[in-house]
Amino acid sequence: MHSRSVAIVTGGSRGIGAAISERLTVDGYAVVINYAGRRDDAVALASRLVAQGGEAVALQADVSDPVAVQRLFDATEARYGGVDVLVNNAGVMDLAPVAQVDDAAFDRLVAINLKGSFNCMREAAHRLRSGGRIINFSSSVIGLRLETYGAYSATKAAVEALTTVLSRELRGRSITVNAVAPGPTATDLFLEGKSPELIERMAKMNPLERLGTPADIAAVVSFLAGPQGGWINGQVIRANGGMV
Ligand code: NAP
Repeated sequence: MHSRSVAIVTGGSRGIGAAISERLTVDGYAVVINYAGRRDDAVALASRLVAQGGEAVALQADVSDPVAVQRLFDATEARYGGVDVLVNNAGVMDLAPVAQVDDAAFDRLVAINLKGSFNCMREAAHRLRSGGRIINFSSSVIGLRLETYGAYSATKAAVEALTTVLSRELRGRSITVNAVAPGPTATDLFLEGKSPELIERMAKMNPLERLGTPADIAAVVSFLAGPQGGWINGQVIRANGGMV
């Protein structure tokens, strides 16, 4: 039996997820770096983290597919003997005014951000060991009520609702369920399709006057996953430099 605590990081291959994967290996977890399609990025990250002395493996699974999520947990248990931490980080963003959102874009947001998070929460509710942690991903944009973020914000609001309900349903299991809601963070998801002027304006929305970094968010996840965060349960942590 493996002695390390075991974490699954969905969408753990790029952006915020990659920083979480790295941070949790440094913290001593065996980390499953889940990815959807970009195998090379995931495998390269796993190799780098192992070369740094960590324990990590890249495993493909589309979180929107419940059977693929079951297989992801099966493969993690087979390799490491159990699962202690689920970081439900995989997500996509598509921005458009409500009047212009097409059905395919809406369905994809719901399938990955909401159903994908739900599929992983449901599996974790069955399988996490006592003392475990579920860390979901919302967004601080919910507080801003920004135009064009309607469909995306709706999926994240639903994740926040599930977070509190699941924290209560796991009564007696010593498992906490929380969500992290980052503000604008320098990743492909945030930067793609935005002008330098818009990025600068959004960076200045918080009083620290900079974008968040993936490492800023990984530090919050590390806290919630570790022993110091054990008394926080059913909460949403808005990690955004004080934006809203
Ligand atoms: P990112 O750089 O675009 O990375 C997304 C990650 O998710 C990749 O590893 C990707 O894998 C994976 N992924 C996408 N669809 C998936 C699926 N169906 N199944 C499994 N994995 C999938 O995104 P990010 O900025 O790091 O965002 C991470 C989380 O933070 C998201 O939930 C996002 O909504 C949230 N968030 C981000 C910001 C921000 O400003 N960046 C702000 C608030 C909240 P592949 O590479 O294989 O596609």
